[in-house]
Amino acid sequence: MSLSQSHNNGMLYVVGIGPGSPDHLTIKAANVLKNADIIIGNSTYLDQINHLLNSQQVIRSTMGHEVERAKKAIHLARDNTVAMVSGGDSNIYGMAGLVLEVARHENSQVDIEIVPGVTALSAVASLLGAPVVTDFAVISLSDLLTPWDTIEKRLHATSDADMVIGIYNPKSRQRNNNFQRAVKIIRRSREDSVPVGIVKNALRSEGESVIVTTLGKVLEYNDEVDMRTTVIIGNSESGIWNSRIITPRGYHKKYDY
Ligand code: SAH
Repeated sequence: MSLSQSHNNGMLYVVGIGPGSPDHLTIKAANVLKNADIIIGNSTYLDQINHLLNSQQVIRSTMGHEVERAKKAIHLARDNTVAMVSGGDSNIYGMAGLVLEVARHENSQVDIEIVPGVTALSAVASLLGAPVVTDFAVISLSDLLTPWDTIEKRLHATSDADMVIGIYNPKSRQRNNNFQRAVKIIRRSREDSVPVGIVKNALRSEGESVIVTTLGKVLEYNDEVDMRTTVIIGNSESGIWNSRIITPRGYHKKYDY
């Protein structure tokens, strides 16, 4: 065996496992997880793939130890097939970025494959109807890694541009008023009648809830918004029909129907 081979027997997959239910996990993700020697992730995500666990070694880590987890995965992947699980999609506020950053920093020769998944925005949009069929922006209100000033700038820019807005990480225990602050900024350039969807635990077996309201009334539901919630704010053309949000794509301007 050559030196390069002996250093490169393993493989690291960063696997997006979708919003939470087995039905919405891709076939590719399931195959990668079933065939892995080692699976690394935090307990919430590992619980969501329980049905795929058999003889793999499982390493449970806790939130807030992401750098450590990425390093460990890269080191183990020298000689093992390792799957690191990431909720939703592995890119969107997921582990793909950190894993590649750490690999670059260490000049690692480990093979890394990023496996995509259904992100919260798609899951939530499906339950709300069709709020996101046109240009949209996704903004996380978590100011742990992004300064709040930057988040505010992005909120102003996307509201001014009349884009549909998906809000991830609207709240946490430490950051309880970020959502209220964001709504205040968006209301400066958007009418109170604009539809808003608040969805918790989308496409998970427990705790799913869907609320359709408007920008003027959304803070009446403030207590419903937590770290398992994604909020979608429509644009100036979005409307509500039968408790569903529809953002017209523009067909009505071009065709009669
Ligand atoms: N990589 C994930 C996002 C991680 S950030 C993805 O692509 O979906 C964590 C945030 O995602 C949560 O605070 C929440 O806003 C959102 N989220 C993740 N899963 C969700 C679900 N099933 N229902 C509603 N929101 C969800």
